[in-house]
Formats: sequence, structure tokens, C-alpha cells
Amino acid sequence: MNREERIGMNEAVFRDVNERIEDVASAFNMTTEPLDLICECGDAACVDRISLTRDEYEKIRADPRFFAVASGHVAPDVEQVVETHSRYDVVRKLKGVPAEIAQTTDPRSGS
Ligand SMILES: [Zn+2]
Repeated sequence: MNREERIGMNEAVFRDVNERIEDVASAFNMTTEPLDLICECGDAACVDRISLTRDEYEKIRADPRFFAVASGHVAPDVEQVVETHSRYDVVRKLKGVPAEIAQTTDPRSGS
């Protein structure tokens, strides 16, 4: 697995974890609380937490190429920052392999 693929798969795994965190929060009716999520950066060792409102999170998840990462946890060779917030950045995967991995692993693609 090359670097692009490794980063892409790491990010896909953390995205799945965050989807489950959101599900659990929904199950407990914590819909007005911010979601305590895990940084979706490509570093497998990173366990930083980021706090997003449900609206912020849903906006990112609406595009399979978008990921939420802790501020500065950006791999500029595979993604670019599209939004900067006080505690986290939103990145979009670059065209080609990074975007393809993000799209084929999208937990919301319905497959
Ligand atoms: Zn990170």
C-alpha cells in the first residue's frame, strides 16, 4: 500500500468510527450536544478529539471527499483545507486516488 492509499484508508476508518459516535449520540437523544469525535487525519497513531456540532458534522459528511481533522493535521499532498475553524479544519481529498478512496469507502453511499 502506498502513502496515498494508507492515508486514505486511515481516514476512512476514523470516519466510520465517527459515524458510530453520531449514531450512539442519536440513540441517547443527545441531539443538541456537540459530538465528541476523533480526528479524521491520515495518521493512524492520532487519537486527538474534536468537538463538532451535529450541523457542522452533517455538512462535512454530505460530501464523501470531506473530512474533519484537528487544526493543522493536514497532508497537503492528498488533501486541501477548505474551511478553518477554531478547533478543527475541514479538508477535501484531492482528485485521483485520494478522492476515489474517500468515495468508495463512503459509509453513506448506500451500498
Ligand atoms: Zn489527527
